[in-house]
Amino acid sequence: MKHLDKPNMDALEVLISSKENIRSKELKQKIEESKDFFKRRYNHYDNYATLGTFNILVNRNYNNIVKRVDQKANMILLYDKMTQEKTQVRKYYKTLREMTTKCPYCGFGTVSTLDHYLPKSKYPIYAVYPNNLVPSCYSCNTTKLASTDVTLHPYYDNVENEQWLFCEVICSDSIFFKYRVDQSVFNSSLYERIKTHFKVFDLQTSFTGFASDELSGYLQSIYTYLEQMNIDGLIADVKDRYDSNLAFKKNHWRTALYQALHNDSSWIEFLGK
Ligand SMILES: [Zn+2]
Repeated sequence: MKHLDKPNMDALEVLISSKENIRSKELKQKIEESKDFFKRRYNHYDNYATLGTFNILVNRNYNNIVKRVDQKANMILLYDKMTQEKTQVRKYYKTLREMTTKCPYCGFGTVSTLDHYLPKSKYPIYAVYPNNLVPSCYSCNTTKLASTDVTLHPYYDNVENEQWLFCEVICSDSIFFKYRVDQSVFNSSLYERIKTHFKVFDLQTSFTGFASDELSGYLQSIYTYLEQMNIDGLIADVKDRYDSNLAFKKNHWRTALYQALHNDSSWIEFLGK
């Protein structure tokens, strides 16, 4: 999970700009008249998200919206205008998408779209709210889709400074890795969201695959140490790799991998057989 600064955009300006290319004069008028309503709702979102109480927003029932301006069809139309070429509002879509090249949800995918943190199908009111639009890779966007599981929000949560990702080395027929999220200094609701995030984006599967590839790429070097009976040299090399990854990112799958290889050296004996 990668933290991003909140978009530096005037949310009402985005809303007003998104109505410019729609045909219905009536809808344009309604949006113009509802600016205060949107402003209040946007403030709600920002306040709850800042406090980490997203579950309150998520549990709100929006099914009663029938004739109001924020009904689903209207809001999806506004968002569609944002994504279309040659519209004025497209510039906001582009700016948001270009905030980062790496997907903040998984930390490794390439950004190719915008994800509605609260899905537009269930929370149409936030369909063009910049703070609800997160640059993301295709895979994370489709995985999440209409899910209302409360994952980490890249604009509001910053969990990069404390370690919560750990790895375990398992030697059986071969060596494989198991990643886990562990409690540290976070409060229980943030900890739950980290765990949900890990599960929803199936980071276990991705990280396990990356770790196996990493070990395969390291094997030739490992065997050279073993042939030279230089176990201390191997342990020092693993420690170097751990330290340099730790200095880069505390919760990177590679950091957790080298930490595990350093803490538990049973794999050295396993490979030496
Ligand atoms: Zn992703």
